[in-house]
Amino acid sequence: MNFTLSEEQKMVLESLRKFLDAEIEPAFRAHGEGFIPREKMQRWTQQLSEYGLIKAPHAEEWGGFGMDWLTHLMVFEEVAYTSLDIAIPGFINCVGAELLSQLGSEELKRKYLPDLISGDKFISMGISEPDVGSDVAAVKTRAVRDGDHWVINGEKTWITNGEYSDVFVCTCKTGEGEVSHILIDREEHGYDVMGIKKLALNGQSTAQVFLSDVRVPVSNTLGELGAGLKNTLKLFEYARCHMAMWGVGVARRAMDESIKYSQERSQHSKPIAGHQLIADKIATMATHIDAARLLTHRAMEMVQSGARADKECSMAKWYGTEIAVTAARDAVEIHGGNGVTKEFVVERLARESIISPIPDGTTEIQKLLIARCLTGIQAFR
Ligand SMILES: Cc1cc2nc3c(=O)[nH]c(=O)nc-3n(C[C@H](O)[C@H](O)[C@H](O)COP(=O)(O)OP(=O)(O)OC[C@H]3O[C@@H](n4cnc5c(N)ncnc54)[C@H](O)[C@@H]3O)c2cc1C
Repeated sequence: MNFTLSEEQKMVLESLRKFLDAEIEPAFRAHGEGFIPREKMQRWTQQLSEYGLIKAPHAEEWGGFGMDWLTHLMVFEEVAYTSLDIAIPGFINCVGAELLSQLGSEELKRKYLPDLISGDKFISMGISEPDVGSDVAAVKTRAVRDGDHWVINGEKTWITNGEYSDVFVCTCKTGEGEVSHILIDREEHGYDVMGIKKLALNGQSTAQVFLSDVRVPVSNTLGELGAGLKNTLKLFEYARCHMAMWGVGVARRAMDESIKYSQERSQHSKPIAGHQLIADKIATMATHIDAARLLTHRAMEMVQSGARADKECSMAKWYGTEIAVTAARDAVEIHGGNGVTKEFVVERLARESIISPIPDGTTEIQKLLIARCLTGIQAFR
């Protein structure tokens, strides 16, 4: 195991950080927390893809850089540190493109992969439904065969990138107990979306997707019929590593803001950084962040090498997203009253961090999965 960054990784991260500080941070601040229109989000996503946000791990054949997933995760951490709103669409495109490259036909890959990897088009992926959350196997959206087409009906919710999406990977029932993935093109096949307002992260899109008699060619099926659950678990491994780094990005920003503030703010005749209980919070944040990053890099390395990594991905996701919550809360406390005002970034981080343990399987679900790997006993059914 190598803990030193390669020269290439150093170069990628240094140039990305300069771009984020000079361009993205001020532009995001100027925009504020309202919804980022597609054109603007597309421009930022395209620019960031050139720094590896989407391109890094994908094959050169499709317009990627042919690098590795670990470097991509490091890039994602940096962008998440600056703005989760701006990092998330690229994360979804990157993982969605991986799903397509693993399961799609050559024709589908040729048609969609280059545009998804460049950030010209957006993908979204839908498992969750109004009545279906943690229990993924219970999806109700149904695809019924009609000659060479599927006719799809159902409702999906919490769909990241929903409003931006050009294509939608729908997890649905294609037969009794048979879960499959079908790719729907918004322009060709049509589906309706409606944005969802949240506690935070309203710059990017989270939406409901409505599917009403949507006719899609059978050739748009991704992977084998009935392999949807198995393929979803594989997809979760990539997504959970990203969720963990989303947490690390937020926690690291919370720590850096806390260090700066505690050096500048004096109480009881000295900088508050010199008070031992404040020092304890900062030391704890730093140690949690490193531990979360190490857990995540290990999990990603295992996924990339083809090893079974469900337990390690769940550990990383649980830990990385929960330490974001505690780091952001401690950062607000270190800022005192200022910490709850819009003048300081930590107020936004605290709201964003609360969301982080929920997508891609809650903390409770990750713990059940870890325990199942250890005991062999199924907690679900
Ligand atoms: C910002 C955001 C983005 C998202 N993006 C997407 C997306 O792009 N695509 C998509 O398909 N979904 C997406 N989701 C949905 C997300 O994956 C679900 O919200 C999550 O899986 C939890 O499902 P639920 O909200 O229905 O909660 P529920 O499953 O109803 O759970 C409610 C509570 O019960 C607990 N619980 C449930 N079952 C058990 C159990 N067996 N044992 C113990 N506790 C249990 C949960 O941990 C939770 O605390 C997103 C969610 C959010 C908030």
